[in-house]
Amino acid sequence: MRIHIGIDDTDSLSGGCTTRIAADVVLTLAKKSVRFLDYPNLIRLNPNVPWKTRGNGAVCLRIESDIRPEAVLELAMDEIERGSRLGDPGTDPGVVVLEGTVPSDVIEFGEEALTRIVTPTDAMSVIKKVNAQAIGYCSGQGIIGALAAIGTVLDRDCTFELIAYRSRAFIGKPRQVDEESIFQMSEEMKEVTFNNVDPETGRILITPRGPDPILCGVRGESAEAVRKAFQMLRIREPIDAWMIFRTNQGTDAHLVTNVAVSELQDNCAVIVEGTVKEKPRTIRGGHAIFLLEDQTGSVHCAAYEPTGKFREVVKRLEPGDRVRGFGGVRPPGDGIPRTLNLEKLEVLKLVASVTSKNPVCPKCGKRMKSAGKGQSFRCRRCETHAPSKIHSEVRRDLQETVHLPPPRAHRHLTKPYVRYQRERCGSSLPPTSGWHSP
Ligand code: ZN
Repeated sequence: MRIHIGIDDTDSLSGGCTTRIAADVVLTLAKKSVRFLDYPNLIRLNPNVPWKTRGNGAVCLRIESDIRPEAVLELAMDEIERGSRLGDPGTDPGVVVLEGTVPSDVIEFGEEALTRIVTPTDAMSVIKKVNAQAIGYCSGQGIIGALAAIGTVLDRDCTFELIAYRSRAFIGKPRQVDEESIFQMSEEMKEVTFNNVDPETGRILITPRGPDPILCGVRGESAEAVRKAFQMLRIREPIDAWMIFRTNQGTDAHLVTNVAVSELQDNCAVIVEGTVKEKPRTIRGGHAIFLLEDQTGSVHCAAYEPTGKFREVVKRLEPGDRVRGFGGVRPPGDGIPRTLNLEKLEVLKLVASVTSKNPVCPKCGKRMKSAGKGQSFRCRRCETHAPSKIHSEVRRDLQETVHLPPPRAHRHLTKPYVRYQRERCGSSLPPTSGWHSP
């Protein structure tokens, strides 16, 4: 029978990692008579959920096996109890096990959890309806991600990530991945991998910081690409395990298209189209803000300081420009109105920017003066006349295209430049050999 196993560890601040626990479940299952129907799915959910501090990721394993779902649930619980920091605040793991094909209710729940706020109660009502089994630890928050991961079947665009895990003795110590080899790999594999390094700062993005068990993660277009890229890295510490995941990272899957300003809901991920209403301004902290208006109302859009040069794009907007804002809706509070936190911005149509100057005297070359309000212009010395001001169009220093912050400021879900035109139609993909080690 087919079994789907959703796992969410709701990563705590101090480390721990859903994918590591999922990898341990995979390695245990791989020793039994189990056929994997897909790569482990790493599903990023709504990045605007206010109580999430990190990537908001959950994992789903899809297998065919004779093992009873109850036994699979117990096996996953064992790994969670071993690998999670159950005492840490904010660590609320959850497991959901579902038998058979994924019902439409679960797929819809996955879409909801990707784009808006859902509650454990919402998750439980779906779980009951489809007769799945679930265990939620602590607050039960983890069953949301676990169920949503099962429902996100990645049948549209998808990408891959190879994640390598550190051996326990090295966790907390500096990561020993040769920097030069990372830059070399990134350059050679730039067509088929993404967000390895941040070009603006030279910062390396494949290695996280801090005490978590991940050594590095290489993101790319195919399992072959991330495996090849990983092999190009010179790594000088033991690798405990590595695994290739199929994911919705870098796909923009979380953004709900064409939402009217009047229909914006707090903490949702949206695309809003409209016109720039006022000249953009920079506020304290170096954040760039502008007001976007559509037929139903107006909303502030913000490019924050960490988005670096992306703010220059915002600052160059003029009233009347037609744009599309992509991002999460930040609720109003602390004297700040409801704001769209920009993940990217598409400039659709720039207005013509016009300056007008007094005409120049054809004889002496000096600017003419107005002869009076509403009257023509003249040069007093040469007695020349001209009827009106000269209008000229100023070249706008802004492209009518999609603009993104630098990779270091991307959300996991944000589709980077390199992925445009590479979108594919995915479907569950039985992994080829060599997708995990050991
Ligand atoms: Zn003159």
